[in-house]
Amino acid sequence: MCPERPQISFSLSSPSTESEAKPSVVSLQAGFSGAAVRKQKVNEENPARTRMSSLLMLGRTGARQFVTRGRFMKDGRCQFTCLAECQFDRRTRNMGRAISYSSSFNHYRHFSATAANLNAAANQNTPSYSYVIVGAGSAGCVLANRLSEDVHESVLLLEAGPKDMLLGSLRLSWKIHMPAALTYNLCDDKYNWYYHTLPQAHMDNRVLYWPRGRVWGGSSSLNAMVYIRGHAEDYNRWQREGAEGWEYERCLPYFKKAQCHELGENRYRGGSGPLHVSRGKTNHPLHKAFIEAGQQAGYPFTDDMNGYQQEGLGWMDMTVHRGKRWSSASAYLRPALGRPNLKTEVRCLTTKILFDGNRAVGVEYTQDGQKKRVFADKEVILSGGAINSPQLLMLSGVGNADDLKQLDIPVVQHLPGVGSNLQDHLELYVQQQCTQPITLYKAQKPFTMVKIGLEWLTMFTGYGATAHLESGGFIRSRPHVTHPDIQFHFLPSQVIDHGRVASKIEAYQVHVGPMRSTSIGWLRLKSANPLDHPILQPNYLSNDMDVWEFRESVKLSREIFAQKAFDEFRGPEVQPGPQVQSDADIDAFVRRKADSAYHPSCTCKMGSPSDPMAVVDSNTRVLGLERLRVVDASIMPSIVSGNLNAPTIMMAEKAADIIRGRPPLSDPGVPVYRPATLNTQR
Ligand SMILES: Cc1cc2nc3c(=O)[nH]c(=O)nc-3n(C[C@H](O)[C@H](O)[C@H](O)COP(=O)(O)OP(=O)(O)OC[C@H]3O[C@@H](n4cnc5c(N)ncnc54)[C@H](O)[C@@H]3O)c2cc1C
Repeated sequence: MCPERPQISFSLSSPSTESEAKPSVVSLQAGFSGAAVRKQKVNEENPARTRMSSLLMLGRTGARQFVTRGRFMKDGRCQFTCLAECQFDRRTRNMGRAISYSSSFNHYRHFSATAANLNAAANQNTPSYSYVIVGAGSAGCVLANRLSEDVHESVLLLEAGPKDMLLGSLRLSWKIHMPAALTYNLCDDKYNWYYHTLPQAHMDNRVLYWPRGRVWGGSSSLNAMVYIRGHAEDYNRWQREGAEGWEYERCLPYFKKAQCHELGENRYRGGSGPLHVSRGKTNHPLHKAFIEAGQQAGYPFTDDMNGYQQEGLGWMDMTVHRGKRWSSASAYLRPALGRPNLKTEVRCLTTKILFDGNRAVGVEYTQDGQKKRVFADKEVILSGGAINSPQLLMLSGVGNADDLKQLDIPVVQHLPGVGSNLQDHLELYVQQQCTQPITLYKAQKPFTMVKIGLEWLTMFTGYGATAHLESGGFIRSRPHVTHPDIQFHFLPSQVIDHGRVASKIEAYQVHVGPMRSTSIGWLRLKSANPLDHPILQPNYLSNDMDVWEFRESVKLSREIFAQKAFDEFRGPEVQPGPQVQSDADIDAFVRRKADSAYHPSCTCKMGSPSDPMAVVDSNTRVLGLERLRVVDASIMPSIVSGNLNAPTIMMAEKAADIIRGRPPLSDPGVPVYRPATLNTQR
């Protein structure tokens, strides 16, 4: 007798009519408390005699083997019959005798496959999964984990870059996982797409460098590990911009679901999610001076800028756990790798989405110089980030029809918003020499670096175990601004050219910049070649208001550095430098020195289907097409007031619930700090 009737579902990735090309491979997917996908060569002489088996891994309860026969029916469907079930003996690791044999134990399901699917499958033995996710970055890793929680679904995660570990995942790569090593990967293109913008007309025609992660974890494996959510009003604005259901009280539960904060759970913080978040441990006197100086300048202290009160200065949160970078690969992907229904491929560049009419059915990618295809039974999900997702859409015929025709790309869907609405944060460094030898300058000397490296490698502690951006804050640039529009990150060190040039002095700096600039840019394809980087035009500082906000940012930073708390450390100003005083001088300095804070976003904005520039709807589905979603920083309707990693992870958590048809989480009426008066700036 069959002790327990398993739920077996079969999926087919082969031709289904005998009149079409002969089937070559069928894949059997069986759902149970573990799931396995087994591909089986079809008996070409007589497909009806094809026997299939699938091993189900059941953890503690052992494993079962099902012997199944697949028959290809005249009506174009496939019927499977489960013939026998065997018990797996965990001690001998052998399959035991059949414990059931019953022709009545007969599960079958009918399938129909699309023409594109059938032909490609016939030609190439093409595999298929429930979901194909393009990009293992901040968002992609979340989706891979959450969607593969359902054992009845199979998930394929494609990543253009390599794994983030060495020696077959046995060793951490210190360049990625040592928090203090963060600038190393900005110096070369090993894990980095290494993009550049067009010359910026309002920034002395400078070409700006945009690093982006190309590795497991994506940009969360290269970023500065600052954990910031943005302000509640950002999400309320999204809702007003047409992202129905994305107001703060419906986003907060997903920030919490993602997070495990070392200070424990409260109404704003999560205490048991996969994304570990911690505070700096250095207690560096310059960080303390910065927070104290902020209060001396009249700004509030905030004990959690991701909680009730963003406004003010205080200690920042970091995605660092036990001294190691906690990327989305560490948080979400690695814990899910053991699942048999999650498959990952690395070093594969997805070059095209495959459509059957207006329905996405799979993707094409290149790996090891070979062109490959894979099919998605349910959905293709793009999580390639704010540059690559719109690029892939356009390469596949989804974008502005006129632009696509010029490149001879057949138009699948005219969506002019693809690549538009490009937004980013610019920042610059106000730098001051330090009169005491306490900055990170010494830590960059070879001998000290080795010492720091050894301590990190053996104990994951010390100066290697932090990203050093441990304090910072948010202020308003002027009265009547409802919530902070300027952000500070303080660093007890000097950074030159993205860390690509070594500092030669004891100095500290504050990274400062406006959070809601109004200059909007775009990106377009340079050619129909997927290897060509797209043309990136952020249009930085094209609006006078943005320049004014930057001028204020510089003045307000200088004012904080001039407070008493810095008296014992303050040397001469390095930049802008004492000669830069007039508004015109400051503006010129801004145009000469401001640089990307690495937050390109909003290039496939989420919005109402009636908005002609929206690319995805509030459920993250690409408008006008079926079975295609985008989930990453590109779908932000507008940029948030803060860094983008935590918001992107939150979006992916929420999208996963949407995709799985789960009821949305919500925290109605959660209180948010408002300044006592808006008549003053502080
Ligand atoms: C240097 C740097 C510092 C930053 N500092 C911070 C910070 O301190 N705090 C913070 O919150 N944010 C920071 N950010 C921003 C933040 O990390 C990103 O906004 C966020 O990670 C974006 O997530 P994403 O999922 O949209 O894209 P990504 O994380 O970039 O992921 C996209 C992934 O898709 C892959 N991919 C793209 N195209 C293809 C394709 N065609 N085929 C296969 N795979 C593909 C990419 O290789 C990549 O792995 C920083 C970013 C950088 C680059």
